[in-house]
Amino acid sequence: MQDDFAEVTHDLILGIDLGTTNSAVGAVESGFPILLADEDGKRITPSAVWFGNGGSMGTAVEVGRKALRRRSADPGRVVTSVKRLMGRRFGEEREFCVPMERAADGSGGLRVLGLSPEEVSAEILKELKRIAEMRLEREATKAVITVPAYFNDAQRAATKRAGELAGLEVVRILSEPTAAALAYGLDKLGEKSRVAVYDLGGGTFDLSVLEMQDGVFQVLATRGDTRLGGDDLDAALARSICAREGIDFDTLEPAARVRLAEEAERMKCRLSETEQEAFRAPFYDGSRSLETIVSRADFEARIKPFIERSITCCRQALADAGVKPEDLQAVILVGGSTRIPAVRRAVAEFFGREPDLSQHPDEAVALGATIQAGVLGGTLRQMVLLDVTPLSLGIETFGGLMNILIPRNTTIPCKAGEMFTNAAAGQSSMRLRVLQGEREMARDNWELGNFEVPFEPAPKGQARVGVQFRIDENGILEVLARDVTTGKDTVVEIRSAAVDVDDEAVGKMVGESVDFAFEDMAERIFTEAKLKAEELLPAVEMALASSGDLVGEAERTEIESAATAVRQALAEGLPNPLKAAVQRLDAATEALAAALVERAMEEAMLKRLG
Ligand code: ADP
Ligand code: MG
Repeated sequence: MQDDFAEVTHDLILGIDLGTTNSAVGAVESGFPILLADEDGKRITPSAVWFGNGGSMGTAVEVGRKALRRRSADPGRVVTSVKRLMGRRFGEEREFCVPMERAADGSGGLRVLGLSPEEVSAEILKELKRIAEMRLEREATKAVITVPAYFNDAQRAATKRAGELAGLEVVRILSEPTAAALAYGLDKLGEKSRVAVYDLGGGTFDLSVLEMQDGVFQVLATRGDTRLGGDDLDAALARSICAREGIDFDTLEPAARVRLAEEAERMKCRLSETEQEAFRAPFYDGSRSLETIVSRADFEARIKPFIERSITCCRQALADAGVKPEDLQAVILVGGSTRIPAVRRAVAEFFGREPDLSQHPDEAVALGATIQAGVLGGTLRQMVLLDVTPLSLGIETFGGLMNILIPRNTTIPCKAGEMFTNAAAGQSSMRLRVLQGEREMARDNWELGNFEVPFEPAPKGQARVGVQFRIDENGILEVLARDVTTGKDTVVEIRSAAVDVDDEAVGKMVGESVDFAFEDMAERIFTEAKLKAEELLPAVEMALASSGDLVGEAERTEIESAATAVRQALAEGLPNPLKAAVQRLDAATEALAAALVERAMEEAMLKRLG
């Protein structure tokens, strides 16, 4: 068990998805990972930057939706999809929304509007930092930033530099599919689980196969197409609408193409919800207008080839990873374009299973980055560590009692131990029954397992068996029993049952422990008193027989009547009278017991002297 859990620092670290089309920022607040919204309540910021023509006063910069709004009037000064240029050298990328130039410093780097891609990305990161600081009302200086699994060292280093330029220390670069898997809680699946992450965003597609190894996800394979995303669907849609109306999309002015593509995107998003939608672009080129109705079926027919390309990548990635669809424990959807019903159908069909839809696909990466940031900053314990034992765990002891070792609601991982002894003389093993539940009597709890613990035969109460319960971060209970005399261990592992109990069963068990609280307590008192009585009665009889001169008449009478009262109470079976009778007998024999001990010591002394 790691003992370094105590060493937590409570640092504020932001989780950032620096996307090609959209970006988002989150932080852990009061123990919960959340995404932070801007002044308009939007948790997603377009990765667009507008650079005004600044004079000596410096350049005016706008980021996000504000920058996009400048696009139709000032297209040459709005940079979008700068992520494509990260870590790239001049000449590596052929097409971009604004002209690319070779860096003047001879480094072979590239520039857009006189800036390096890192500097442009830094503007997006500054905006995210600003949103976070405004929401959290404190300074944020550290971040976890995600990158695609296929990013090489140069691209990762460029991302890190962008963070630093924005005043953020990048404490970790995290791969996007891993972040998404964290957001979907797939880290709970356990060792060797494999999952597929299907990410169709605005400009890129990738499919990653992950495998859990030593508690962290490893990317087994990733395949993608950096020219396949929602933008292509918008363009295809705008093009087909133009074709239908006899307009040549490719010969239109850039501003008109932007207008039509923007309207196509709006309509596309609507078609994820409705069966048909109107396409309206009044005066899109200054004079002409376009208005038509598009059905979801038309749209789906149009985008079919794009979806098929993504499925081809899936097939290749699975082949690279050497896994078949049925080997996967989960398939998750990431990226805004996976909101399209036809995409979901195609993914479900290819993988032969319904994808997990429990998270917003366009927020999952940022949420996962936030979770990772929370773990690194100590504000969120490893997700799995947040688990608690839903019910108490213990073993059955003498008289059928439940002896709790780990109380309910203990945070895992944890361990606890206690020493036990033999109930009968000469016993050479004991049966350990591992129990779960809140009831006082062993039989009312659930038995998770039982096993025989061997030990050296010894007089009653002399054997020493240490029992330790240990629950690891996966909720697996390991029971260790050690014969202290010989040091021999017996270890039994009880899989997952210790933590995986359904809520209803927990509710029922806790409810019953409350309902039966009085009865249970009475039974425990009776059982404990009975065990004491059974030990005391024979001992008292022996003492009286051997003591002779040591007890006076009155004392002997009191002891005998107290013993009779104990036998009577035992027969009646009432807990409190029995407890009282046992206490009376204990008190009555106190002087005798002390005298017996004294005599034994005297005898031993005489023996030694003689
Ligand atoms: P990134 O590429 O930055 O990871 P996102 O995951 O945010 O981007 O995806 C953005 C894309 O998702 C855009 O092309 C957008 O049009 C598309 N999208 C967002 N919502 C929907 C929707 N409801 N239906 C179809 N496409 C959508
Ligand atoms: Mg993305």
